[in-house]
Amino acid sequence: MSEHNYLLLTPGPLTTSKTVKEAMLFDSCTWDEDYNLGVVQSIRQKLVTLATQSTGYTSVLLQGSGSFAVEAVLGTVIGPQDKLLVVNNGAYGARMVEMARLMDLNHHEFHCGEVNEPDVEAMEAVLKGDAQISHIAMVHCETTTGMLNPLERVSGLAARNGKTLIVDAMSSFGGIPLDVDALGIDYLISSANKCIQGVPGFAFVIARRSELEKCAGRSRSLSLDLYAQWRCMEDNAGKWRFTSPTHTLLAFAQALRELEKEGGIDARNIRYRANQQRLVAGMRELGFETLLEDGLHSPIITAFYSPKAETYRFTEFYQRLKQQGFVIYPGKVSQSDCFRIGNIGEIYPPDIEGLLTAVGQAMYWDL
Ligand SMILES: *Cc1c(COP(=O)(O)O)cnc(C)c1O
Repeated sequence: MSEHNYLLLTPGPLTTSKTVKEAMLFDSCTWDEDYNLGVVQSIRQKLVTLATQSTGYTSVLLQGSGSFAVEAVLGTVIGPQDKLLVVNNGAYGARMVEMARLMDLNHHEFHCGEVNEPDVEAMEAVLKGDAQISHIAMVHCETTTGMLNPLERVSGLAARNGKTLIVDAMSSFGGIPLDVDALGIDYLISSANKCIQGVPGFAFVIARRSELEKCAGRSRSLSLDLYAQWRCMEDNAGKWRFTSPTHTLLAFAQALRELEKEGGIDARNIRYRANQQRLVAGMRELGFETLLEDGLHSPIITAFYSPKAETYRFTEFYQRLKQQGFVIYPGKVSQSDCFRIGNIGEIYPPDIEGLLTAVGQAMYWDL
């Protein structure tokens, strides 16, 4: 297998650097100090530093993919007297609604269609009409469409109304600058294999310490108890409750060093934006149209309408791109036939140029 057999233009797992992959060539002992203090605690501290300058935050790492951490937050944070408003404008918002339903949490689904920005005034009206609502959960970059949800306005809304704010920043954290304290975010969730550019295996939560401290004994699940996981890491200097994904952590530590070397989140954001803008411009030159208006796009992933030609099949297009070294993603929007191209990970503008040439070659359908 070559160093890169193909580039992943997907929303995670992503193309990672060779050095991130090489960092895994070591077997760590889970109770060893070099691992717990040197790797785990250092990662936890660095994550908080990336998220804010405030000292009121802490971080928790959790085994599994990103959804595990979303479920852990909802199940650990929402008490029996609480009620959660979930913004749903895509598959990941819908997944939180499904979690709330399965865990029997009091919740209100704020559905706003997949291609529209959430209407913050309408949300405020819901809050005014239902005093029991205590928490708001929203996805930051809705990876389904690539939409960047209006985080500042929703955080203002949460602050004005005294609600606890939970943000699924899975596909944006590390690629879009933000400060959790300035935005009043109480829980921010992301995972190892998105914009930090690590490999899959764990997720993490950056939490306002004073909020997390209230959550003892609330969890509906043993292994997804965010509070218990946090206490274990706090009280035992970075020890995980159950088997920790040791190799993934080593890769993540290396990915954090590489993020720093690139110039931090601001520099990475500039690269991702350059990738996304070139992608959209080039795809438009080839005749493709984006699902969303330009103002709603994130610099992370873009949804394009499928060509209307009768002979077009996603799988055929996909195979032709893969043969040329590029892997794209199917669509996930319910009402429209789309495909998606991500531009995060170890991807640079020359890779996007290469992709555009490959797309030109792969357009086999009748025009
Ligand atoms: C990737 C992603 C998740 C988590 O997905 P997993 O497959 O569980 O890792 C959640 N929310 C968003 C917005 C995502 O992009």
